[in-house]
Amino acid sequence: MSNVTIPEGAYPAIIGGERIFTAQSIEVIDPATGKVFATVARCGETEVDQAVAAARKAFNKSWRLTTAAERARLLSRFAQVISEHADELAALESRDTGKPMRQAKIDVAFSVRYFEYYSHMAEAVFGSVIPAATDRFTFTTREAYGVTGHIIPWNYPLGIASRTLAPALAAGNCCVLKPAEQAPLSSVRIAELALVAGFPAGVLNVVPGLGSEAGAALSGHSGIDHVSFTGSVPVGRKIAEAAAKNLIPAALELGGKSPNIVLADADLDLATPVVASAILQNAGQTCSAGARLLVHRDVHDDLVSRLKGIFARATIGAGKTDPDLGPVISALQHQRVSELVDIGRGEAMLVHGGRRPAGAEYEEGYFIEPTLFDNVAPGATIAQREIFGPVLTVTSFSDLDEAVEIANGTDYGLVTGVWTRNIGRANWLIRELHCGQVMVNTFSNGVELPFGGRKKSGYGVEKGYDALLAFTHVKGAVVVM
Ligand code: NAP
Repeated sequence: MSNVTIPEGAYPAIIGGERIFTAQSIEVIDPATGKVFATVARCGETEVDQAVAAARKAFNKSWRLTTAAERARLLSRFAQVISEHADELAALESRDTGKPMRQAKIDVAFSVRYFEYYSHMAEAVFGSVIPAATDRFTFTTREAYGVTGHIIPWNYPLGIASRTLAPALAAGNCCVLKPAEQAPLSSVRIAELALVAGFPAGVLNVVPGLGSEAGAALSGHSGIDHVSFTGSVPVGRKIAEAAAKNLIPAALELGGKSPNIVLADADLDLATPVVASAILQNAGQTCSAGARLLVHRDVHDDLVSRLKGIFARATIGAGKTDPDLGPVISALQHQRVSELVDIGRGEAMLVHGGRRPAGAEYEEGYFIEPTLFDNVAPGATIAQREIFGPVLTVTSFSDLDEAVEIANGTDYGLVTGVWTRNIGRANWLIRELHCGQVMVNTFSNGVELPFGGRKKSGYGVEKGYDALLAFTHVKGAVVVM
């Protein structure tokens, strides 16, 4: 364990390697109890200015001049330090977000893997020699942007922070991270652990605060060279506008309404548990949640009955008790999900769930039963709007053309699951689906596969080698001597 100590219950901003406490702070609520359990610094324009200046100084003074090999070593060490603090980080993340402990442990493992993966990739950033006129040497190099801003949501704070920071750091940028007000603690903690791992002060800065204050100040700051945003469509638009004003590139990872398409020839034993966990994982608060099930008429009844069984058996509770389903993040989120479920009652057939679970232990926290709607028309509100809760809609189809039309018929295009034993149908669907990722006979993948949206799911790329290159400029050079 490291010798870093965090003041009990009060978490700072991390700017230029210093712990900064602000005059005002934000209360952090345990979603399982509705009670405040910590506070965090509430950064505004002043602290964001300081963080951007600290990042710029670190970039100019040291980080810009490090070799890829040195950055690789630091990232690898960082992965190791995070791994050494896995239990602590998982407990913190579970408390902060309400997620089951086993999910929080998976998130920490992903965090480690992101830093490990990009430590390997750091040395794979280089340009090329270009054949041109013989009297000259023509080539390209890749350079870091400089200072990158990162704004993240509350659903997978540690995973998403790591996903966006690791390639940015590996490419040679210095970062300013703004975590969500509801779940900021793991971001603060990993910035402390980055110092333990040996990152120079200012290379990674964290400015917790409100979206309208710290978030707006960071995304509109004239001192950043790139902004990476993960969150909702309305805020994504604001980020794009701010980036356009400063003429900097933006990567936007936004919402989704992702389908699982189950064909008549699918292996239902394989598909059923994955289709269920694709919506129950993290209480449905996953951008790429499998929120819509599109199922061939021939296997509809069988699959819905199997899913109903899983939903009915799912355990619900506080993250620390490691249930199948924790609470949703906040009272507001609970209200939003409940309102959409009420709309769904008038639009479709409620097969299971739809309420706060009965029992004294569920009265204070933000719990919702796993909810299954059948006979959902493709254009229904609950089939179109991102609910961001444990709510699955089921729609049947008769042939592949109809399946594709329904799958592509929302504003979003993030991921799609396809379940079939036929490689020809799988490949045809991969080509026809309007989304960033297609997964056949699975609904998960690693950090290596590029990830990004189409349509209102955003633009830009996270994960894989492409994300690393996306944090660099290409510079062309020609030398005549
Ligand atoms: P959100 O409300 O858009 O917030 C995301 C982040 O933006 C938070 O840190 C928020 O700060 C900040 N923010 C709010 N207003 C801002 C402003 N005016 N300027 C700059 N920053 C601002 O989203 P959320 O409710 O946290 O997350 C849920 C959404 O994220 C869903 O739509 C989900 O699909 C999407 N998401 C997408 C991905 C993906 O990879 N595609 C992954 C996860 C989640 P505060 O929270 O502190 O106000």
